[in-house]
Amino acid sequence: MDEQFDVAVVGAGPAGISAACILAEKGVRTVVLERGEYPGAKNLFGGVLYGHDLAQIVPDYRDRNCPIERNIVESRIWYLSRNGGYSLSYRDRVFELQGKFNAFTTGRARFDRWFAEQAKDRGALILCSTVVTDLLRDSNRRVIGVRTDRPDGDLRARVVLLADGINSPLAKKTGFRPEPKPAEVALSVKEVIGLPEEVIEERFGVESGSGVTVEILGDVTWGMNGVAFLYTNKRSLSVGIGANLLHFSQNRVRPYEMLEAFKQHPMLAPFIKGGKPQEYTAHWLAEGGFDTIPQLCGDGFLIAGDSAMLFNALHREGTNLAMASGRMAAETVLEAMDRGDFTRRGLEGYGRRLQESYVLRDMKKYRRFPHLLQEHKEIFTTLPELSSLAAREMLTVNGVPKKEKQRAIWNAVRRKMSPFRLLGLLWDAWRSVR
Ligand SMILES: Cc1cc2nc3c(=O)[nH]c(=O)nc-3n(C[C@H](O)[C@H](O)[C@H](O)COP(=O)(O)OP(=O)(O)OC[C@H]3O[C@@H](n4cnc5c(N)ncnc54)[C@H](O)[C@@H]3O)c2cc1C
Repeated sequence: MDEQFDVAVVGAGPAGISAACILAEKGVRTVVLERGEYPGAKNLFGGVLYGHDLAQIVPDYRDRNCPIERNIVESRIWYLSRNGGYSLSYRDRVFELQGKFNAFTTGRARFDRWFAEQAKDRGALILCSTVVTDLLRDSNRRVIGVRTDRPDGDLRARVVLLADGINSPLAKKTGFRPEPKPAEVALSVKEVIGLPEEVIEERFGVESGSGVTVEILGDVTWGMNGVAFLYTNKRSLSVGIGANLLHFSQNRVRPYEMLEAFKQHPMLAPFIKGGKPQEYTAHWLAEGGFDTIPQLCGDGFLIAGDSAMLFNALHREGTNLAMASGRMAAETVLEAMDRGDFTRRGLEGYGRRLQESYVLRDMKKYRRFPHLLQEHKEIFTTLPELSSLAAREMLTVNGVPKKEKQRAIWNAVRRKMSPFRLLGLLWDAWRSVR
C-alpha cells in the first residue's frame, strides 16, 4: 500500500473504533486494520456495555440504531456453595424514569459492526480480513507503520495505535508490551442459550426491553480464582464462567466441563431450563490489574484497551475502559499533530489523561484486588460452604436455640479456618477495595 495515513489503528474493537471515530471526525486520515472478516467477528464479551463512554463518542447512539438487547434495571450478585447460595440484588427505577440507562446488554458481533459503521460515516477506512503481522520501524527504532498479511503489505502512518486486545501475537513478536503471564489472564467460556422473550421476562421479573445482570462467585469455579455470569438478552441468556489460566493448567480442568457443571447448579438451572444452546465461545480476559499495565506509549505508537491491560475485574468494566482509552489516545494524537511531534515525549499526554481520569484512578484503587483472589483460595472453597452452613442453620427451625446454633457455626468455622486466617482475609479484602 503506497498510501500514507496519519494514524493506523490495529484492531476494530471498542478501543480502536473509539479512537477512529474521534480522529476521522477531525479529518485525520485514519485506517483501522482488523483481522476478522468483519468487526466483531472474532470478539466475545459477557454482554454488558455501559453507556457513558459510548455517549462521549456517539452522543445519540440510541437514535442511531445501536443494537441494544435489554436495558439493565437490576444487578444481582450470587455467592454460591455446592447446593445453594446467597443472592443480593439491587434494582432502581431512577435510570428508567430519567430515560438514562446506565448499561445495556449487546452482542459483540452486532455491536462492533455497528460501531465500526459510525467510524466509517465519519471518514475512517476499515480494512477487514487484514492481520497486522509486524511493526515497521526506522533506523532509530521509531514506529513508522505496520506490516500486514495483505498482498500489498506494508502501510505507513505517522502514528500507530495498538488496540489489538489481550491475546496479541503482535505483542509477543514485537515486544511492545510484555506477554501476560498465565496468572495475569483468565480464560472464560460463554454459551448463549435461546429462550422466548416472555419466558425471560417472567423468570427475571422484568418488563419488555428491561434486563438483569448476575455476577457469580464461589464454589462454581471448583476452587480456582474465577467468576461466572448470567445476563439477559432479548431472546437469549448469556451464561459464562472463567478462571485464572494458571489455575486451569495447574488443576487440569477443562473450561467447558466447568460450564456444563455450572449449568446444573440449583440456583442457575431454573433460569436456563428448556433453553436451546445457540453459540459457544472462549476468550482471554486481562486480569492482572494496575501492576501489569505496560508503558502506554513510545516513539510513534500508543496502546489502548485490553492490549494495555485496562480491565477492572471487580466492576466487570472492560469495554468502557477500552472506549475511554481509545478516545484519550485520539485526543493525544490530535495534540501531537498540532505540534508535529510523534515521539514518546510528544505522546506522553496520553498517560497523563488516563491518570487523571477514572480509568487509572479506579485501577489504582483496586490494585490489590487481583492479589486478594489469588492469595485467598478459601473465597472459592471453604467460605461458600461455611456461609451456606450458617444461613441453613439459622433459618432452620428444629427446636435448637439460636445461641447453640451460633456456637455450632463458630466451631465449624474454627475447624476449617483459623481465626487469624479469617482476620487476614477480612483485612486483605478491606485493603483491596478501600
Ligand atoms: C468472557 C468475557 C466477558 C466479558 N464481559 C464484559 C462485560 O460484560 N462488560 C465489559 O465492559 N467488558 C467485558 N469483558 C471485557 C471486554 O471484552 C474487553 O475489555 C474489551 O473487549 C476490550 O476492548 P479492546 O478494543 O481493547 O479489545 P478487543 O475487543 O479484544 O478488540 C481487539 C480487536 O483487535 C483485533 N486484532 C487482534 N490482533 C490483530 C492483528 N494482529 N491484526 C488485526 N487485528 C487484530 C481483534 O480481532 C479484535 O477485533 C469481557 C471479556 C471476556 C473475555
